Amino acid sequence: MYKPVIGLEIHTQLKTESKMFCSCANDSDTENPNVNICPICLGHPGSLPTINEKAVKKVLEAGAALNCKLRDVSRFDRKNYFYPDLPKGYQISQDRRPLCAEGFLDIEGKRVRIKRIHLEEDTGKLFHDSKEQCSLVDFNRAGIPLMELVTEPDIRSGHEACRFAEELRLIFRYLDISDADMQKGQMRVEVNISVSHMEGRLGTKVEIKNLNSFRAVQRAVDYEIKRQTGLLENGKHISMETRGWDEFKEETFSQREKEEAFDYRYFPEPDLPPMYLNDPPFNKENIKLRTELPQKKRDRFNKEYGITDKKEMDVFMNNQELADYFEKIVSEAVNWMKEWDEKSTVQKKEKIELVRIIKSYLLSDFLGTLKGKEIKDVLITPENFAELTLFIYKKEISSKIAKKLLSEMYQTGGDPSQIIEEKGWSQIKGSEDIKKIVLEVVEENKEAVSDYKSGKEEALQFLTGKVMAKTKGRAEPKEAQRMIKELI
Ligand code: ADP
Ligand code: MG
Ligand code: ZN
Repeated sequence: MYKPVIGLEIHTQLKTESKMFCSCANDSDTENPNVNICPICLGHPGSLPTINEKAVKKVLEAGAALNCKLRDVSRFDRKNYFYPDLPKGYQISQDRRPLCAEGFLDIEGKRVRIKRIHLEEDTGKLFHDSKEQCSLVDFNRAGIPLMELVTEPDIRSGHEACRFAEELRLIFRYLDISDADMQKGQMRVEVNISVSHMEGRLGTKVEIKNLNSFRAVQRAVDYEIKRQTGLLENGKHISMETRGWDEFKEETFSQREKEEAFDYRYFPEPDLPPMYLNDPPFNKENIKLRTELPQKKRDRFNKEYGITDKKEMDVFMNNQELADYFEKIVSEAVNWMKEWDEKSTVQKKEKIELVRIIKSYLLSDFLGTLKGKEIKDVLITPENFAELTLFIYKKEISSKIAKKLLSEMYQTGGDPSQIIEEKGWSQIKGSEDIKKIVLEVVEENKEAVSDYKSGKEEALQFLTGKVMAKTKGRAEPKEAQRMIKELI
């Protein structure tokens, strides 16, 4: 049995106003090429870089969120190589003294150690024009702050690699470090994979690049594990190489063999001072995490609201505005309940039932009508949403009316009690009133009644429908059904 070993290298573009070492706009999405450029990011001789403090702080925040050890000095180094998208002939990066090191992230109870996180500058972009038989270069991306995170080889499957990358993206979004959109190249995942028949022994590693989705990460890793295992089982050897991922064939292909480790001749960047991480502006007091991290939030949502369903949890974790809105509604609903029942505390059981109602309306009807609209533009205040759920809880309105009411509130931002009053939507509660209507329906639909008596279940649905229509949805269907059965 061969065991896989996987380590990830993840590059993330930081969300800053300006580039890493100059004041050009950080916006690689700009349509026109070569507009966000200056002598510094083009590497003109004699130009001097300056460090973007916000970018450094963002990396330190990532390090704090990922449990990295604190260090005292960090510095930039030159990584020397030639490529047409690198106008300087070197990239400013970090070699020996990265900003962060020795951290970890727990994924589904398993610890993945983080070797280092460092800061560097992105390169330009090449476009190969086959018709004109030439290559074009756009330097808008050159010099954009790029954070590189390297894990220890602690990952064991495509699923784990995918989950790690997904959680990382979530953390970066929570910290507002980056939007980390893989399709846009804001987050780029490279995987290193080897297989070995001995636990702990590292086999020859293969690196896979150009993975532009989480799905691709998972598939590529699983494919590569199979490919390498197959080779070894057939007595063949694995060559150290870089492979690409073919989206359509769903397989990896060889891009280039690694002859020897490339020597970048790193040396300390002479134009930039070292960064002292125990002194302002980079010291601990200045790098406090202001946001609750995803895992902590998950644990809290589980404990406070009893949310256990993974899909539901993901909806809340991936949509912070929705999660905030939900929390406000719950807290308002608890207040409403105290007010209605004239009591000072709400029991856990009652709260969980309120949460169940809120979730069912929020995650289906409400999300359905939202269609890309942002929560902040929604007219329904958390207080009104909460009052609506209390009307449902107290069975003051039927579920059918509740949906109509929600849609009305969504359009007008109106107050639920007022709308119910105006439209005469409150539930027909007195069973005598429903009974009268049921009797009418039974009288008017003799055929359906005899159909039901002869065993046709659909006839009951039909009769219930008639009752609902007569009451304009103000009866509870279950109650109506029970009464029909009783009367015929
Ligand atoms: P390199 O200098 O070749 O880039 P590093 O030591 O920096 O190598 O490791 C790069 C990534 O590859 C890290 O994520 C590391 O965990 C992973 N890695 C290193 N050796 C192996 C191996 N034999 N199998 C799988 N992954 C590995
Ligand atoms: Mg490397
Ligand atoms: Zn510039």
